[in-house]
Amino acid sequence: MEETPGAPEQGSDGKPIPPMLIEAVRYAEDRHWEVVPGSWLIEQDGPARCSCGDPHCPLPGAHPVDEDWRHRASAGPGVVRRWWTENPHASILLPTGRVFDVLDVPEVAGCLALARMERMGLQLGPVVAAPAVPGLHGRRLHFLVLPGVLAKLPELLRRLGWAPGRLDLFSRGEGEWIVAPPTRVGPHSYVRWARPPSTLNRWLPDAAELISPLAYACGREAPPAYAPQPPQPAVVR
Ligand SMILES: [Zn+2]
Repeated sequence: MEETPGAPEQGSDGKPIPPMLIEAVRYAEDRHWEVVPGSWLIEQDGPARCSCGDPHCPLPGAHPVDEDWRHRASAGPGVVRRWWTENPHASILLPTGRVFDVLDVPEVAGCLALARMERMGLQLGPVVAAPAVPGLHGRRLHFLVLPGVLAKLPELLRRLGWAPGRLDLFSRGEGEWIVAPPTRVGPHSYVRWARPPSTLNRWLPDAAELISPLAYACGREAPPAYAPQPPQPAVVR
């Protein structure tokens, strides 16, 4: 599934297939991940704004658009193909708490942890690199892990000596989502893969396998009086 540079893929009519459609269908078809279309950025006469119409939207072009998005999410390639054929600009949202959860950390700490995990020979899953969202958070890395993290993360951290909320390290599970590559979330910002899905990382690690290097890296980066805030509000507009 790695990105291959070159000519854009073409449909049967000879026209290029929108990249968002290609990737959304790949997630559903190759990984059996549920996907759901979200809001998107509109550029007309000025800076990009969110399709939801709220000029103060906290997550422009990167949030669910329906209250029932959890139920709409689908891993059916045909449904997914139809959604992005109808709107090739829609962001690609991946619900967490289904086939994977996410460990969400600052990019600097995440990169440090990634290097350490690779030295340790740990089995890694895909890792998403999310751009900064002004006013909310800086750049983040999302480590995909087996579901069930939400309930056990506090205990995993406590065993490593970290009190709940002490680290800028969050889990995303049931009822939440992440934004998937190649969604655009700012004038020049795209969500991308730090470690793309491949045949080598089809089996996801358990959070317990990654938590030690992640907590260590986040602890190194944490200021003494750090008071973390969840990096992404659960907005639906
Ligand atoms: Zn919006």
